[in-house]
Amino acid sequence: MTIAPDQDTRDRAPSLDEVELMPEVGNGKRYSLWTIGCQMNESESAQVGAALELAGYRATPDERDADIIVLNSCVVRNSAEQKVVGKLGALQQLKRNNPELKIALTGCMVTGQEEKLTKQFPHVDLFFRPSAVEKLVEIVPELSGVEDDLVELPHYYGAAEQRGEVTAFMPIIFGCNYVCSYCIIPYRRGKERSRPLQSVVGEAWMLAKRGVREITLLGQTVNAYGHDLPGTPDLADLLAAVDGVEGIERIRFLTSHPQKMTTKLIRAVADLPHVCEHINLPVQAGHDYTLQRMRRNYTTDDYRRVIHEIRETVPNVTIATDIIVGFPGETEEHFQGTLDLLAELELDVVHVAMYSPRPKTISSRWEDDVPQDEKHRRHQAVEAQQIAIAARKKGLLLGGVHEVLVDGQQKGRWRGRTRGNQLIFFDAPGTERDWVGKLVDVHVTETHAWHAIGRISE
Ligand code: SAH
Repeated sequence: MTIAPDQDTRDRAPSLDEVELMPEVGNGKRYSLWTIGCQMNESESAQVGAALELAGYRATPDERDADIIVLNSCVVRNSAEQKVVGKLGALQQLKRNNPELKIALTGCMVTGQEEKLTKQFPHVDLFFRPSAVEKLVEIVPELSGVEDDLVELPHYYGAAEQRGEVTAFMPIIFGCNYVCSYCIIPYRRGKERSRPLQSVVGEAWMLAKRGVREITLLGQTVNAYGHDLPGTPDLADLLAAVDGVEGIERIRFLTSHPQKMTTKLIRAVADLPHVCEHINLPVQAGHDYTLQRMRRNYTTDDYRRVIHEIRETVPNVTIATDIIVGFPGETEEHFQGTLDLLAELELDVVHVAMYSPRPKTISSRWEDDVPQDEKHRRHQAVEAQQIAIAARKKGLLLGGVHEVLVDGQQKGRWRGRTRGNQLIFFDAPGTERDWVGKLVDVHVTETHAWHAIGRISE
């Protein structure tokens, strides 16, 4: 589909000078945010920060100074959930010392669990579901009267100069319509809801105005974007619109579902100048039996075909994937299928997780029959194989000149990423300039599995 004229904001988006930032008036109160989990959580925490700033609060790095602490939780694996439980426990003492302190818990731990959580953590003043920032009004009376507007708040907070961020996350679609048998997220984040295209583009303009140069568009299934919107724009349409935002040099998106990786989307990655040649495409397993039991809706051959089409269409593309090891019923032979597929496809990055049964999911009714030490062994085996692949692939950067977006300094060197999302550290001898936020050509002189080193190209 093409974007209807009234949806095409490129022609009528405000110039950078016209964009209004949030007012900078304080009420003397302080807030602190604590976040674990996915990028979506990070961006939703930033929206919570924006709401609190609107109410006149200001950020403090020290929780002991805070009038309100908001925790953003993750339950995708049991280990994450246990960290949240630990953090909630640790805050009990703070609340005892300062009964005026308000504590709120949001994120995927909350949905449907409010009653249980209220009993378990009586020192928490408010539980609110992911994306339900408007609920803050219950403990932040300063927000009363504007709660209906809070959902439209941008996903950033603080004065741009203070934070100096070069890259930003921006949710474009909430929830997930897939029912992968292991995954708790659809139960905690609900069905898919896309943000209107204009709202996404407007926020991209505001981020550009703050000095952000790279935006990552987020969704549990980011490439399901738009099917629920009038005119059904898709992710390729949205990428085209954001590509026209002045000041945004790079655009990324994650995470994509292989089944929705359309030719149109792949072409958009190849053709749009600011869209980076990097795709996050979780495969989860390399054996059809496991994929079927995971309810992933594709076979290993379908996945191979998508990877080949991406590689044929997008020169120099890099690809990241997610893998779960030790899924119920995964035999040695099934697991070998995963190792073989990864060896064959030589993807650039593999995030590997050990299966963890989650409440209410389909697979939680099956026996968790791969012993913990075997899950560890499989985890190690994927990592060991991947480190060799990653080292070989990074080697391809050696001797070349690559464009790097600089996002900071580390251990005496400038740090940034290539369009393919490869981490690079470089020296810029004899230059006095602050390179943060700049696109720099770097001559790569040394490569390792997870990063490369170089110097600024003359
Ligand atoms: N929507 C994306 C990512 C969801 S969560 C997708 O479905 O591909 C991020 C990653 O956590 C998943 O890709 C998966 O690899 C991992 N994960 C999800 N549920 C898990 C579970 N029950 N046990 C272990 N890892 C899990």
